[in-house]
Amino acid sequence: MERIMEIAEKHDLRVIEDAAQALGAAFKGKKAGSFGFTGIFSFYPAKVLN
Ligand SMILES: *Cc1c(COP(=O)(O)O)cnc(C)c1O
Repeated sequence: MERIMEIAEKHDLRVIEDAAQALGAAFKGKKAGSFGFTGIFSFYPAKVLN
């Protein structure tokens, strides 16, 4: 995520995080879904939220 965010900032891009399977995960203390412009999670019955 650090490298992705560096590239996005350098090129004025927005990062949309696919965090569908990452609820509760963190990288260096920062929660999945909170790195980029926005993050998305899945409510599909087989996924971790359900
Ligand atoms: C399941 C899944 C999706 C799709 O989620 P929907 O809620 O079905 O749209 C997208 N990305 C990943 C990584 C997934 O595991």
